[in-house]
Amino acid sequence: MRFETKAIHAGQSPDPSTGAIIPPIHQTSTYVVEAPGKDKGYVYSRTSNPTRTALEKNLAALENGKYGLGFASGMAATNTVMNLFASGSHVVCNDDLYGGTHRLFTQLYKDYQLSFDFVDAADTKNLEEIIRDDTKLIWIETPTNPLLKIIDIQKIAKIAHKHNLPLAVDNTFATPYLQQPLTLGADIIVHSTTKYLSGHSDIIGGAIVVSDEKLYEKLSFFQNAVGAVPGPLDCWLVLRGIKTLALRMERHCQNALRIAQHLKDHPKVAKVYYPGLPSHPQHQLAKKQMSGFGGMVSVELLGDTKSAEKFIRSTRFFALAESLGAVESLICHPATMTHASIPREERLKAGFKDELIRLSVGVENIEDLIEDLENAFKRI
Ligand SMILES: *Cc1c(COP(=O)(O)O)cnc(C)c1O
Repeated sequence: MRFETKAIHAGQSPDPSTGAIIPPIHQTSTYVVEAPGKDKGYVYSRTSNPTRTALEKNLAALENGKYGLGFASGMAATNTVMNLFASGSHVVCNDDLYGGTHRLFTQLYKDYQLSFDFVDAADTKNLEEIIRDDTKLIWIETPTNPLLKIIDIQKIAKIAHKHNLPLAVDNTFATPYLQQPLTLGADIIVHSTTKYLSGHSDIIGGAIVVSDEKLYEKLSFFQNAVGAVPGPLDCWLVLRGIKTLALRMERHCQNALRIAQHLKDHPKVAKVYYPGLPSHPQHQLAKKQMSGFGGMVSVELLGDTKSAEKFIRSTRFFALAESLGAVESLICHPATMTHASIPREERLKAGFKDELIRLSVGVENIEDLIEDLENAFKRI
């Protein structure tokens, strides 16, 4: 089965009791069993639920993995991966991470004696240099957020395996439609299904996909033991979203490229970050590693923070909101919104300025989107 077909069919067969083509929302906490130990595969919905199973199988198929695990949020999925590591462990990450991941790693786990180092992993040498004897995991996100750098998953996987470390990749920005990290050598994939996978700004959810059975057993034990699981309705909504993932991603990519091209020589723009522009430093790598460049565009405006703030309040279709990856276009100011929990010096060190705005380009008509941005430019 190819991607678009898997998105619609994997993990989902007509309901045997009614023929319903869509897997039902099994809104139930428990399951009646014939006798203790004699069940139909389901006992209690924290442990497993048929709607969740359908989603987990579907996600595993999309990522070319063996096992999927659903979570109540992307952060719950990330936290579950970190449950694998005992206190005293060191983790190596790229420096341009989702703000919530950075907050979890640096603010919460410091009390659990886990330590983290962040480097610009677009140059893979940087990352290898900071691996220590107590390093237990490499964690990357690519494209990075908000600077949209591209990190070479295949190279980092080789480095990880040379040092006997697992590589985890947060694949939220690319989605399995554009990039398949397990195929490139990664060991663990994390998703916020809140974003492109559900695609309609209507749920919060997360997922992990792995192929290693031992790893799966541990993670599935944590999933049940901790209990940060998604409800059946949310799983069903993600499944519905995924059916059109391929179609939506095509349009997201097309629209984002048009916007990046429109803005790159714009008199009010200092710099455009988009891996689909030939001027992007990792454009060739993006072409090789991804099958499209995604729907996120970051833009450094000319002028000061004030004009950036004015700009983000002046668009009509680009709604001022955190989050990304849905059909409607969003605009945000990372420094005061998604990445506000990262100290300013650290942000500047990682190369992102106060004038940076981030666009999640939706699937609206491209002319409307460009006009919307032009109208906002007139106000600054
Ligand atoms: C949103 C996001 C997360 C966190 O997911 P939630 O569903 O909000 O908990 C993690 N990583 C990336 C790249 C994200 O965009």
